[in-house]
Amino acid sequence: MNAIPFKYVIRVFRYLKPHWRLAAASIVVTMLSAAAALLTPWTLKIVVDHVLERQPLPPILARALGTVGTDRISLLVIAVCGGLAVTLLLNSLHVVSNYINTRIDQFITLDFRSQMFLHAQRLSLAYHERRRSGMLIYMINSQGDAPAALIMTVPMLMESALTLVGMLWISFAMDPWIALASLAVVPFLYYSVGYYASHIQNRLQRVLSLEGESLSVIHESLSIMRVIVAFGREEHEFKRFRTQTTHAVTERVKITVRQTVFSLVVNMITAIGTSVVLGIGAYQVIQGRLTVGQMLVVIAYIAAVYKPLEAISFTIGSLQDRFISLKNTFELLDTVPDIRDEPGAQAMQRAKGHLQWEGVKFAYPGRTNTLSDISFEVKPGQVVGIVGQTGAGKSTLVSLLPRFYDITGGRILLDGVDIRKILLRSLRDQVSVVLQEPLLFSGTIAENIRYGRLDATDAEIVEAAKCANAHDFIMNLPQKYQTMLGERGAAVSGGERQRISIARAFLKDAPILILDEPTSSVDSKTEAVILDALDRLMAGRTTFMIAHRLSTLNNADIILVLQQGQLVEKGTQAELLALGKHYKQLYDAQVGLAREKATPTVEQSTAIA
Ligand code: ADP
Repeated sequence: MNAIPFKYVIRVFRYLKPHWRLAAASIVVTMLSAAAALLTPWTLKIVVDHVLERQPLPPILARALGTVGTDRISLLVIAVCGGLAVTLLLNSLHVVSNYINTRIDQFITLDFRSQMFLHAQRLSLAYHERRRSGMLIYMINSQGDAPAALIMTVPMLMESALTLVGMLWISFAMDPWIALASLAVVPFLYYSVGYYASHIQNRLQRVLSLEGESLSVIHESLSIMRVIVAFGREEHEFKRFRTQTTHAVTERVKITVRQTVFSLVVNMITAIGTSVVLGIGAYQVIQGRLTVGQMLVVIAYIAAVYKPLEAISFTIGSLQDRFISLKNTFELLDTVPDIRDEPGAQAMQRAKGHLQWEGVKFAYPGRTNTLSDISFEVKPGQVVGIVGQTGAGKSTLVSLLPRFYDITGGRILLDGVDIRKILLRSLRDQVSVVLQEPLLFSGTIAENIRYGRLDATDAEIVEAAKCANAHDFIMNLPQKYQTMLGERGAAVSGGERQRISIARAFLKDAPILILDEPTSSVDSKTEAVILDALDRLMAGRTTFMIAHRLSTLNNADIILVLQQGQLVEKGTQAELLALGKHYKQLYDAQVGLAREKATPTVEQSTAIA
């Protein structure tokens, strides 16, 4: 069984540590169960040999029962009642062990899943961009029970092993040949399990990843529902899902066939073993070396031994599935977050908001020079406008500050401290982000705003909403602050969603603000309302504002112009206009466009006339 990676086994058992009391109880109950199982066939032996055949009782029993033991009917009653008592004991032990084992199983699974969930959240955005989230969901949800499943095979294996030893010992005492014959099948069983394990592992890995893939398809489709509906691509998505899942199902069926053939082989091996033991046993009875009752005990034992042996084989066989899950899940847990606290990183109190970018370089994996050599300085409370064509690197530039990605060269200083020397949590506490597409989750409006500061009171939420010009429209909704939002906030308009996210930023009250084109997807009337709220939000905070409409930058203290990842100009609006280069060109293009829109063209004038 060299296919079993033992390093995983050792690691898995560490999860048992917090539940050691339960584990100890489980071992005790398992031992009692194994002992009780040994008693089971003896009723039959007493009835056959001593009640029916009238053979003398063994000395221990004869002494224990005294004169009662000599009366056949009394002996029959005692044997039958004894048998019933043993069955009752066995079943009671079963109930107890089921309870204990289920608790261990469920709590270990809970611990493990929680650990994976927490870890997945710690991994960087870059990691999540590379991985499909459906796969992660599948891993956490469906493969997260692997450690517990592995641990739970132990009581089963232990009970089987104890029973096996006890039974062989007793059988040996009665007739060594039968005991030896019963063991003859063990190597065959072992070999078939080994064969199964080594031939099926790769297939299982494939099936598991295909099944994860199916979940990814569902997850991705549901998250782009609007696009699917808009393009009427329901049928296309359905086919994609169907094709993918059919592939997974076909592979699963093929594997199940192999597993069934395997179980057939195992059943045949044990059936042969039982037949051989029956043959030898009956022969020994004919020869007078064994009583009928003893033979029955041995046959019962053999059947009882093969059952756990079969179970062990299956468990070990299905363990392959678990080991693959374990490998995947441990790989996830072993993925070191590429953005993490550096040794010696310190927490930071509320920052003043003084920022220095010194020769900052950054590139996404596989791309070169997304940003190159960016240097500028922002004083506390200043407003920085960032302009440039789509793809110039504006969003990337601001996402480096809260360390969504780590820079590859240069440094960024916040209040004179390299941001990599500030505890990540504390750094992110200093920054509020308002995106072009506000991210709201399903829950009430109040809950969405409270996400800015989880311990905020209702009054503070209302206050934040007021500052964000959101209070009035919220009060007009039927459920007011308790209105439920859909997964992406579908129940309210784009401008309203934006104001909810601004209220959230008010509540967070961070000294640095990042506004990534927050008004580019709303009409100009709504824009005015949002800009009014933003003006209030920006007061006293260092603000980065990525702007599409240059008119929103009239009050910026400094404007950065990006072009293909280079900082080509920086200065105030007046300075840049006077410079007459990149910014001026962008400005003229927009002003020209605005004029064109305002003045009807010749054709329009004719049409109006
Ligand atoms: P802007 O905000 O100015 O439109 P971005 O900062 O979004 O520009 O993008 C800058 C460049 O980086 C573009 O070429 C874009 O394709 C690329 N880019 C943006 N995000 C990623 C990402 N997550 N992975 C790889 N490349 C990216």
